[in-house]
Amino acid sequence: MSKELEQQPRKRNLLDLVQHVAYLEDTEGAVPDELLAEFREEVRDTLLAKGEKVDNYAKLIHYFTMRAAAAKGELEAFVKIETERLKKRITRAEADARRLGDFALFVIDSLGRDNKGKRLPLEGVNYTLTAAGVADSCEVTDESLVPLEFKTVELTARMPGDMWNKACIADFNEKDTTKRIAALQLAVLSTSDAITFNCEYAVDKKKLLAALKEPCEACSVDDGCPAGKTLSTTFASEENPEGIEMVDCPKCGGTGKRRIPGARLLTNKTRLVVK
Ligand SMILES: [Zn+2]
Repeated sequence: MSKELEQQPRKRNLLDLVQHVAYLEDTEGAVPDELLAEFREEVRDTLLAKGEKVDNYAKLIHYFTMRAAAAKGELEAFVKIETERLKKRITRAEADARRLGDFALFVIDSLGRDNKGKRLPLEGVNYTLTAAGVADSCEVTDESLVPLEFKTVELTARMPGDMWNKACIADFNEKDTTKRIAALQLAVLSTSDAITFNCEYAVDKKKLLAALKEPCEACSVDDGCPAGKTLSTTFASEENPEGIEMVDCPKCGGTGKRRIPGARLLTNKTRLVVK
């Protein structure tokens, strides 16, 4: 090897260069101009050399693309596994807390009430466990069954801007909503395929709760039966010569409250308060 060649700094290959540039960006936030110039020159030489060198350049891009994809996949898998693990932990911990609370409520219930009708507390040294009443609430058991009268609908329309402009007749900033809507209906009827609608349904819990607390239509009539019961005919016998018996109301199942599909009333609930 000649002396001249020995003194030349060893030229870095592309992989070294690209990784060195990335390293400097990460650690120092800036890459010196001369290194970038070296990088550019190396790229130019490689790509203009044609043949195998160009192939190697393409392979290098492929290598980093695959590396990124693999890391992305690893991240997604990691997030999925960790999310599952933590979700399970949340469910388990919430269930444990609920179970402990329910057992304590059971013990409190078994103690009966004081002379003011209040439930007795469980006294610790630093903590007191008491049962507190919970306001009636409703639970949606199957949203698809809940009748529309207990839902709200949020309707959004997507259409080309000029159509909206026409729908607003001449003035895009038409303030009169009635005029706008009437014009929009006209536009919808004439060129409906340019407009897409999105419907979002949501249960109106307040309305639902109020309805669930209403008395059952069938058994709330004054027939001498308590709420939830109704009179029914049966075979007359010696003990029951009139052939009339009191049964659970078939409409509400004996609750005496209005029944609504897909929902139920949560009532007389207590929760444990730890203080
Ligand atoms: Zn009823």
